Amino acid sequence: MLNIDLRKIYRFTPVEPAPSPQALPSGAEYYYECLDCTGIVNSVPHVKSACTCGNLAGSGGSLAIKDPTRVKVVTGKLK
Ligand SMILES: [Zn+2]
Repeated sequence: MLNIDLRKIYRFTPVEPAPSPQALPSGAEYYYECLDCTGIVNSVPHVKSACTCGNLAGSGGSLAIKDPTRVKVVTGKLK
């Protein structure tokens, strides 16, 4: 599993107002921060990726979210 700290590479900005957990936006510029373990995963992960607690896990361009209410949507820009 790829386990690098994305915060070292990207500057993340929360999406405001916070999107509804039932309609989370997805796209290359959107990242989801897990509120349980603070892990950050891209919303359309190309490589296998997951947060530490397993709430977010995905690969091949799709992401599975166990509990969407424990997710903060952020956009990431390369520093
Ligand atoms: Zn997590």
